[in-house]
Amino acid sequence: MGAPSIAIVGGGLVGASLALALQAGVRQRGWQVELIEPVAPGSDYQPSYDARSTALSQGTRRIYQRLGVWSAIALRAEPILDIHVSDRGRFGATRLSAADEGVPALGYVVENAWIGRCLWDALDAGTVRRHCPARVASIAVAEQGYRLTLEDDSVLEPSLTVLVDGGRSGLREQLGIPVRERPYGQTALIANVTPGRPHHGLAFERFTDDGPMALLPLAENRCALVWTRPEDDAARLAALDEAAFLAELQDTFGYRLGGFRQVGARHLYPLSLVEADEQVRSGLVVLGNAAHSLHPIAGQGYNLSLRDADVLAEELLAGERPPGELATLRRYLERQRFDQRLTVGFSDQVTRLFGDSGPGSILLRNLGLVGLDLLPPAKRWFARQAMGLGSR
Ligand SMILES: Cc1cc2nc3c(=O)[nH]c(=O)nc-3n(C[C@H](O)[C@H](O)[C@H](O)COP(=O)(O)OP(=O)(O)OC[C@H]3O[C@@H](n4cnc5c(N)ncnc54)[C@H](O)[C@@H]3O)c2cc1C
Repeated sequence: MGAPSIAIVGGGLVGASLALALQAGVRQRGWQVELIEPVAPGSDYQPSYDARSTALSQGTRRIYQRLGVWSAIALRAEPILDIHVSDRGRFGATRLSAADEGVPALGYVVENAWIGRCLWDALDAGTVRRHCPARVASIAVAEQGYRLTLEDDSVLEPSLTVLVDGGRSGLREQLGIPVRERPYGQTALIANVTPGRPHHGLAFERFTDDGPMALLPLAENRCALVWTRPEDDAARLAALDEAAFLAELQDTFGYRLGGFRQVGARHLYPLSLVEADEQVRSGLVVLGNAAHSLHPIAGQGYNLSLRDADVLAEELLAGERPPGELATLRRYLERQRFDQRLTVGFSDQVTRLFGDSGPGSILLRNLGLVGLDLLPPAKRWFARQAMGLGSR
């Protein structure tokens, strides 16, 4: 039998981060990491490192600092200095500020393509064997762990398989792992826009009757727009010409950032809360979006998955046990269970409360926003959740 190996199926944001978190410890132990990804970072159609941007929390920054990759990511990371949360056309509003929280920034907005490039550049080819472009076509139970058959018919039988192949994980389905899916009936329209005025690090979370909208500060005085609308309406907005789109955006958002000047490519993401019923089996972990996909408005999904990946790497490298052992994997899940429940619950409740246009919900959320402004401890709790630091 060869040295133990860990196969990471999917080299997106979460898979590549796990490879990086494992790299140093695995090298010491003489284990091998296999990273399998169909689309190289930098390709136009890379589904994880696409035109989107991600709001990285302070917790994420700390993990990346420890992994030695933050200085590269930071070159194109725009700090969020304040967040203005409001309900469009109603009285409730609150403002979260980095200065009040005693932190240099509430978070950092980075383009996914840049994060992907930094992560892949930091991988050591000797320890992390990249299979790219390569796709796992099928997964089946083997004598020990799982057998992975790649599209070129080559076969891997790792001690541990980590499925990080995204929210619509076909391999999770092949294993018969059920998911609980609750569609939000909304689609996120993503685009970068250029405002007329400098954003000064100010992020906006604005709740409208048709769905929430976030405008996050990006490098080069651009803003990353996440605009959630009912499906048909999102498709209509995506098809508008630039002037008509900017006019509707202006009408919904207002003039706090001046007149919008330009919009980049628009992309649509239908939204649902998806949670896998099983995350660990002997020789198997389901991670990232394959384990839980959240609504993007609270900016929590990736930050949570990175904490999962970090704790998984820590548990795998903690003892001398082989990587696929069920007790180790259960320990990982036990440690992350509370964080997962809290984060999934927080973003789901916020989304549902702010996405509901019934009079009771409108009153409740406006009172909530006013209450946050009047009650510093509540506001601090909210800010900590938003920064991805709540469960620590
Ligand atoms: C619009 C939007 C905005 C978001 N904004 C934020 C934010 O601001 N903050 C935040 O924390 N989170 C955010 N998220 C969530 C975040 O994008 C996800 O948490 C993250 O993309 C999950 O990464 P992943 O690697 O698990 O999955 P994915 O990004 O889906 O990557 C899966 C990878 O697996 C590969 N793959 C697929 N099938 C196979 C196969 N058979 N074999 C091998 N490889 C395969 C794919 O090519 C891909 O590279 C947002 C999500 C959306 C939709």
